[in-house]
Amino acid sequence: MEYKLFINGEWVESSAGESFDDINPATLEKIGKIHKASDEDVKSAVDSAEDAFDSWSGTPAPQRAKILFRAARMLEERKEELSHLLTVEMGKVLKEARGDVQEAIDMTYYAAGEGRRLFGETTPSELPEKFCMTLRRPIGVVGLITPWNFPIAIPAWKIMPALIAGNALVLKPASDTPIMSIELVKILEKAGLPKGVLNLVMGEGSKVGGAIVHNKKIRAVSFTGSLETGKWIMSEAGKDMKKVSLELGGKNPVIVMDDANLDLAIDGVIWGAFGTTGQRCTAASRVIVHEKILPAFQKRLVERTKKLRLGNGLDEAVDVGPVINSSQLQKIAKYVETGKNEGAKLALGGKTVKPLPGYFFEPTIFTGVAPDMRIAREEIFGPVVSLLGAGNLDEAIHIANSVEYGLSSSIYTENIKNAFKAIEKIEAGITYINASTIGAEIHLPFGGVKSTGNGTREGGTTAIDEFTEIKTVYVDYSGKLQKAQIDIE
Ligand code: NAP
Repeated sequence: MEYKLFINGEWVESSAGESFDDINPATLEKIGKIHKASDEDVKSAVDSAEDAFDSWSGTPAPQRAKILFRAARMLEERKEELSHLLTVEMGKVLKEARGDVQEAIDMTYYAAGEGRRLFGETTPSELPEKFCMTLRRPIGVVGLITPWNFPIAIPAWKIMPALIAGNALVLKPASDTPIMSIELVKILEKAGLPKGVLNLVMGEGSKVGGAIVHNKKIRAVSFTGSLETGKWIMSEAGKDMKKVSLELGGKNPVIVMDDANLDLAIDGVIWGAFGTTGQRCTAASRVIVHEKILPAFQKRLVERTKKLRLGNGLDEAVDVGPVINSSQLQKIAKYVETGKNEGAKLALGGKTVKPLPGYFFEPTIFTGVAPDMRIAREEIFGPVVSLLGAGNLDEAIHIANSVEYGLSSSIYTENIKNAFKAIEKIEAGITYINASTIGAEIHLPFGGVKSTGNGTREGGTTAIDEFTEIKTVYVDYSGKLQKAQIDIE
């Protein structure tokens, strides 16, 4: 299959005649030839968005919502087919692929519903016969840059709130998973989105993403990806005073207290650490266990993890799919070597395996990990989990907070005091009690603190904040000059 760029409502070829291959990470089969955007194509995409902006932003939000409702229904009708395609393109097991598509469906319905809200505020004036309110305005042309690990959910998390708010968009999906974005754009096109409102350009991050970030007509950039790229985008976009929202990496801790329900905690750690082959920004990559129960916890975790089956995610019996590409595989293998050299003990896994021709890595457990080791501080983004011991809750929270990231976190405890202390003290955007670090729901804010982002949140009504500007309006109907702060008793 050949996939073109979508610019000004047309599917067009790369103006430079360039393309790249989309590969199934489990089988290494080529699944698509993807047209690569040139600088000229990115410029056309931005210009088309600029042309479409006036009419789209002038369309009443409930009318914009009708298109999103139609798109949500189409996504629902195609859920099974899209999930299958997602597993083929990205590798995650089918039941998780269904979750990824469901997230896109949920977000599309949710954003459509916001078309009848998009609330502002009204508040009394300090002066008589004067009315004060705020309203939301779209930002303008917005660039969206997305990663490969949630190939349809993350584009939907950005596209849908940005559209309902009245922005015109240029989307650049990850080069490893462009087809899911292409399918999403096709659905919005079929649902009746006017030409130019959403444009799609594919190609390598530094070039195509960089051209979006540097284009003066782009007023905001919404980015999800690595810390390194996020820092670069922040500094470059800052030169033009663009609004920037960053959703970056994580090194998410699960604390398991001595009063925890151990069966529940082990289920949660396995799901959090090895779901999506550990390639989630919210993956449970550090498990901080109370020393009293550490040996028993470790033994049971290793026994359970041994039973996980690796293979093609299309096989419903498989638990863990491939990692996304060879450089990711090499990065994981390198971190395992680093962990061994740092003195951590490999309790399970640690090797690449070949159940199929693709990129597979064994679920891996390190024990005897110290908080200052690199494997305990840096994001590995693979099926590798580190077990650390702690003597009490204060020490566990101290370890949890000792990394530069702060996305998700979790505590397993049957003691309400421990739970509330963790809620209060853990430095993270999300804390789960007696549930793993993963499983965000679309109608709640999502994002992190410290180097995980720059303070913005996606999801929920905070997604509308991301894609709107606030205007404050004063209406003075007194018919005379009234001076705020001065004409008061
Ligand atoms: P990445 O390498 O930073 O890439 C993310 C996106 O940025 C891709 O579309 C990439 O294009 C593009 N890109 C790369 N360099 C760029 C540049 N100089 N300018 C503009 N765009 C550029 O991250 P990734 O490896 O795809 O994703 C994994 C990371 O995402 C992990 O750190 C994970 O924690 C994070 N993540 C965070 C969240 C969250 O919500 N906090 C959610 C999911 C993932 P190419 O694909 O062409 O390189």
